Amino acid sequence: MALDIKNASVVYPSGSGRPPVEALRQIELKINDGDFVVALGASGCGKSTLLNLIAGFLSPTSGEILLDQRRVAGPGADRAVVFQKHALLPWLNVRDNVAFGLKIRGTPREERYAVADKYISLLGLRGFEDSPVYMLSGGMQQRVGIARALTCDPKVLLMDEPLGALDALTREKAQELILRVWKETSKSVFFITHSVEEALFMGTQLVVMSPRPGRIAHRFDLPFSQRFLGGMTARQVKAAPDFIAMREKVLSIIFADEEEAA
Ligand code: ADP
Ligand code: MG
Repeated sequence: MALDIKNASVVYPSGSGRPPVEALRQIELKINDGDFVVALGASGCGKSTLLNLIAGFLSPTSGEILLDQRRVAGPGADRAVVFQKHALLPWLNVRDNVAFGLKIRGTPREERYAVADKYISLLGLRGFEDSPVYMLSGGMQQRVGIARALTCDPKVLLMDEPLGALDALTREKAQELILRVWKETSKSVFFITHSVEEALFMGTQLVVMSPRPGRIAHRFDLPFSQRFLGGMTARQVKAAPDFIAMREKVLSIIFADEEEAA
């Protein structure tokens, strides 16, 4: 399943005394099967707008989004979204939260619990099936959100700064877990972050966006997640000289773009 964003632009119309906002200009991006594409860029450069286009929450002002050569016309079960603020139902337990998407689709209880339990295991949540989600830590809640997104077996997983609210240690552990889940489920992923280190560690492809209007200013293929999945520890990967060199290169690009915009 290939996702193909062709010459997509988004202008938010003017409203209540506010001028129109050109949020994205002429975005070209292809996400192939099994790709892990990371979008990096300053706040306001249009990352969430791009994700919302792919999700089908928003239509491009011009250009088009194709999924397997068919035009995306709205949300669909082939694409699932994980937000930074998980949208869990606090009064339900872990299993019912994970199974919620299937419930909405009318999947019978026994079947949806079987599927939910599979992803509960995959996300390391075994033993917490019956705990209400409000009792869990932020990192565990985010894992519940990811498990829920996976239950409907989407082709593409869309993640908008999913780890942004976590403390540093929990965040690193969650990065590793997401990479293992990605490998295990062979999904395509579109992942937004503003951490350069996270972007380099997670992605197979990096797009660096520049602000006002949002454009893809740079693209890089990345080897680092394969090293982790091949057996190196995350610390070894992130401490390698070529990782550090790449991190400095991307940081200098972002700082240069910032100064240009200021
Ligand atoms: P990012 O996720 O990179 O921070 P966004 O995609 O949220 O950026 O926003 C890109 C630009 O579009 C920003 O300038 C933002 O203020 C503007 N914007 C986002 N959503 C709307 C909207 N619904 N109406 C008008 N402007 C918007
Ligand atoms: Mg955003």
